[in-house]
Amino acid sequence: MFYIIVFTFLLGSLAWSCTSNAKRIKKSDADVECTCPHCRILIQPYGDFSNERAKAVADGLEKSLAKYVKDLAVTEVKVLPGKPLTEDLMNDAKTRYRASKILDKQAGLKSQKNDAIIGLTDKDISTSAHGYDDWGILGLSYMGHSNCVISTFRVKDKSQFWKVVLHEFGHAYLGLDHCPNNDPQCFMVDCNGKPDLARERYLCDTCSNSIRL
Ligand SMILES: [Zn+2]
Ligand SMILES: [Zn+2]
Repeated sequence: MFYIIVFTFLLGSLAWSCTSNAKRIKKSDADVECTCPHCRILIQPYGDFSNERAKAVADGLEKSLAKYVKDLAVTEVKVLPGKPLTEDLMNDAKTRYRASKILDKQAGLKSQKNDAIIGLTDKDISTSAHGYDDWGILGLSYMGHSNCVISTFRVKDKSQFWKVVLHEFGHAYLGLDHCPNNDPQCFMVDCNGKPDLARERYLCDTCSNSIRL
């Protein structure tokens, strides 16, 4: 009789823990019952950036968020059908694509409050910075607007590209500014035109504690 009671008790607690775990890992928006903030990530590949590569970037971002950003539930990562980068998105000299024009255009893709939009391109993108009208960049975000565009063009070691994606997502969705400690190993460090992605390996405590969700 004692064994039966113990067994029933164990079975009961096991069933309880499985149920509560299942609630946390269900992927659709409606099913996420945890109270932590959640978001849906929409990836928009441009030009020759294939859907397959965009999916690999999506997987990498999901893994890095799970590892470095606590308390954010990603409900879905969706790769949208590719789009061309049209000439109207270029700078006046027609040498690069203006990142802000891409951001303005893709802002319309947002259909839910918790959507984050990430544009991906192999083309060179630019913005006005450091006293130059047209300064080539790795990526651009509107901070806290859940909208960013990222280019592989200036990333020499493509295996490090996920760090640029995490950095821009940090600006766009996590409300992070550049690393106040200027820590060269922190993903949020300002590269000042000279990226050293191989050195970046964590989100420092100051940046982690500054996440606003
Ligand atoms: Zn930092
Ligand atoms: Zn930045």
